[in-house]
Amino acid sequence: MRTALFPGSFDPFTIGHYEVLLSALQLFDKVIVAVGYNSSKKGFFTPQTRSDIIKDAVAHLSNVEVCSYSGLTIDACREHGASHIIRGLRTTADFEMESVIAQANTKLAPEISTVFIPAYGEYSFVSSTIVRDLLIHKGDASQFLPKGVDISKFING
Ligand code: ADP
Repeated sequence: MRTALFPGSFDPFTIGHYEVLLSALQLFDKVIVAVGYNSSKKGFFTPQTRSDIIKDAVAHLSNVEVCSYSGLTIDACREHGASHIIRGLRTTADFEMESVIAQANTKLAPEISTVFIPAYGEYSFVSSTIVRDLLIHKGDASQFLPKGVDISKFING
């Protein structure tokens, strides 16, 4: 069973993340979407809400699990039996940052490899930042969110 971990802040999970997930599912038997959080850094949504949003987005996919973690990504991989880390690449800036992290992770955990999935889809420009800005200013973010997500459920007031 080939299992990959797809880590990210996912604050919130967007249609861009969803596209990367669908690509990863073509390569792996199981993909675990892992909400990474830092207890001293306050996000827009709580880690619990971020997980709940992802669960709504992937409810129709049987080979996806959702978890959260606050430590090292390689430790989360080991805990969940994942042999690969999935990261999406939008820009060359993403590549420069991600390749350094991937090399460090390989040094620390040689049994875990990183797989980069390019953002070549229609939604490659979508980011959590754009979605958060729309939500803050009461714009319509629905086209940037996966189909199964009703974001109004998760926003107070
Ligand atoms: P992080 O804070 O860990 O970068 P994000 O939630 O911003 O977490 O992103 C998680 C992963 O998804 C990253 O690898 C990021 O490059 C990728 N990603 C984000 N948006 C898109 C998109 N629109 N298309 C492809 N990949 C994306």
